[in-house]
Amino acid sequence: MARVAIVTGGTRGIGEAISLALTDLGITVAANYGGSDENARAFTERTGIKSYKWNVADHQACLDGVAQVEAELGPVDIVVNNAGITRDGTLMKMSYEAWDEVIRVNLGGCFNMAKATFTGMKSRGFGRIVNIGSINGQAGQYGQVNYAAAKSGIHGFTKALAQEGARFGITVNAIAPGYIDTDMVAAVPPEVLEKIVAKIPAGRLGQASEIARGVAFLVGENSGFVTGSTLSINGGQHMY
Ligand code: NDP
Repeated sequence: MARVAIVTGGTRGIGEAISLALTDLGITVAANYGGSDENARAFTERTGIKSYKWNVADHQACLDGVAQVEAELGPVDIVVNNAGITRDGTLMKMSYEAWDEVIRVNLGGCFNMAKATFTGMKSRGFGRIVNIGSINGQAGQYGQVNYAAAKSGIHGFTKALAQEGARFGITVNAIAPGYIDTDMVAAVPPEVLEKIVAKIPAGRLGQASEIARGVAFLVGENSGFVTGSTLSINGGQHMY
């Protein structure tokens, strides 16, 4: 029977590319999303991949969402924690709400989804968790104390949970994308983006499919000895 994967934020951007790449591998994908119903509907129509709405920052919603996916598609063996948001601003201008929301969605979402699926993975002796971090969690970024802290936290979370999962056939890895051509990066002012691209040795933004390729490797049946690692996919911008 095909394995079942949940990709959070799996209906657009990097997440959409991941949902498609895993489907191509024969995995049954449930694509979670947070609010854009119209986009999710169009995604499901276009791809045939089912979409499920819940807020990854809400612990109970994650438990309920996973239960619904498992009832409809079967036990979840693969989780890709991709949902993420930015609420940028310097510390002086950043509200507590902007701090809190980014930590709760980007980092709290990883905890909530792992809590909802880890016991099942453990009982079946197989699991793959891939957390999408960021180059800005590795290197820091001006105006992003919330996002950099959350993403940096993801890298620590990954290494700690990898140690807990290893004996049970559960791998936990992270990918740290550089700047990828999605809606999130489209929100960066053009003059700032130009300066960022100038610093990327590859001389261009990355494509979502290039991140998905890394995820496809990490969730593979034969990737069981890869755990606790962070794969940087950033065109050479930051070598960690
Ligand atoms: P997008 O903004 O294009 O898409 C974000 C996705 O996350 C959407 O599907 C969105 O759902 C979903 N989402 C947001 N908040 C929630 C929530 N609370 N609950 C459930 N789903 C939610 O982002 P990208 O594709 O650019 O980024 C994907 C991941 O990669 C993020 O974690 C991001 O931080 C990380 N990343 C991105 C980089 C880039 O250059 N783009 C660089 C480094 C890391 P909906 O459609 O409903 O809004």
